[in-house]
Amino acid sequence: MNQEKLIEKSSQYLWLPFTQMKDYDADPLVIESGEGVYLRDIYGNEYLDGYSSLWLNVHGHRNEEINSAIKEQLDKIAHSTLLGASNIPSILLAEKLIELSPEKLKRVFYSDSGATSVEIAIKMAYQYWQNIGKPEKQKFITLKNAYHGDTVGAISVGQVDIFHRVYKSLMFHSLVAPFPDVYHHAELDDEDEIRDTALLELEAILEEHHHEIAGMTVESLIQGAGGMNIMPKGYFKGVEQLCKKYNVLLIVDEVATGFGRTGKMFAVEHEDVQPDIMTVAKGITGGYLPIAATLTTEEIYEAFYDDYTSLKTFFHGHSYTGNQLGCAAALANLEIYERENLIEQTQVKKAIIQNLLEPLKSHPHIGDIRQLGMICGIELVAYKESKKPFLWEDRVGYRTTLKMRELGMLTRPIGDTIVFMPPLAASGKELEKMVEIMSEAIEITTREYAE
Ligand code: PLP
Repeated sequence: MNQEKLIEKSSQYLWLPFTQMKDYDADPLVIESGEGVYLRDIYGNEYLDGYSSLWLNVHGHRNEEINSAIKEQLDKIAHSTLLGASNIPSILLAEKLIELSPEKLKRVFYSDSGATSVEIAIKMAYQYWQNIGKPEKQKFITLKNAYHGDTVGAISVGQVDIFHRVYKSLMFHSLVAPFPDVYHHAELDDEDEIRDTALLELEAILEEHHHEIAGMTVESLIQGAGGMNIMPKGYFKGVEQLCKKYNVLLIVDEVATGFGRTGKMFAVEHEDVQPDIMTVAKGITGGYLPIAATLTTEEIYEAFYDDYTSLKTFFHGHSYTGNQLGCAAALANLEIYERENLIEQTQVKKAIIQNLLEPLKSHPHIGDIRQLGMICGIELVAYKESKKPFLWEDRVGYRTTLKMRELGMLTRPIGDTIVFMPPLAASGKELEKMVEIMSEAIEITTREYAE
């Protein structure tokens, strides 16, 4: 089929996620293939994958080892249900995940997206308290601007404004504590003070409501879709301690941060945080197939272990839960981490990125550069001194990413914050090229929209 026809059919039949189709129809893009850190469209144009195909690609596209593992598994079986019958790749992957994750976590419950891994965490925490005779613990506490996925439960513990405006009456109510947002804080600019104030406010809510709170959901060390905001040192540990003090389950979302993104296998390791429940997805298969998992403790698992008639069974599961192809891809992915010492390499890449981004700090329209390992957010502002944003309707972040696309790199913005999240396997040269394109696009776009 020729390219024009494909574009036409793409606009005629598809409805893309999180996409205003009016934007898409104005600038359609159809990807045909990928190789390493490059994506190729149907016209043969190449783009650097500056967002790891939505924060999940690790070793680049068409990695031979992962492809072979999937093909090998395909020759045995593609899928059989995990309802009442386990399978070999899901057993081996569960063992590997437990080996890699914080000590307290001993059980793996599979799903197929980050949002569903969070839905499971919420239902698990909620039912746990019922199962042990404390049904009054039903609520959740979360942080301002949190993002945990787009399903109804996940948006209910999330605090992204657009969801609350559009889907309000579908959601359940969660308690909200402030996020210690250093760059956007209205009154304070001292990190320690911002951290301590946020912990005090969290404690005040827990003190008053702990008897009715089942769990606290929290993104691990950095809020992603909420604006790429990094917690000040010590805050995450403080959250863990408060959850323990007030008998609230700590549910840590490692969907975006897991599997080396922050320079550790899991971001909890930076502050030795031990979650009661931890969700993982995205990088688990290196970005090849949709597998996610919710990990928990033996204590929580045991609260569900009873006669079926007691209604203590965990009532959750999907047709493709624990899919063999996905688990085989994940196992191959994690083998590469070990063999190539990927976590150590990430430290080197982190420093390369830091050096490359350093000169951008003086740009008159770059308000802040936030980096945690290989997760970066570059916030564009109209006025650097006052941190005044560009006009919302000018969509400067979006236009900057369109310009980047024209120059040969793909990413998505969060408002006017440009997300830079290259595959962990990107070479120094490729990182350099990505930052070069990003700088040029920022320069051109901000110049056009600055007053
Ligand atoms: N949790 C966090 C922290 C995320 O960043 C995301 C996605 O970006 C999700 C959950 C949802 O994951 P998915 O898009 O796989 O449903």
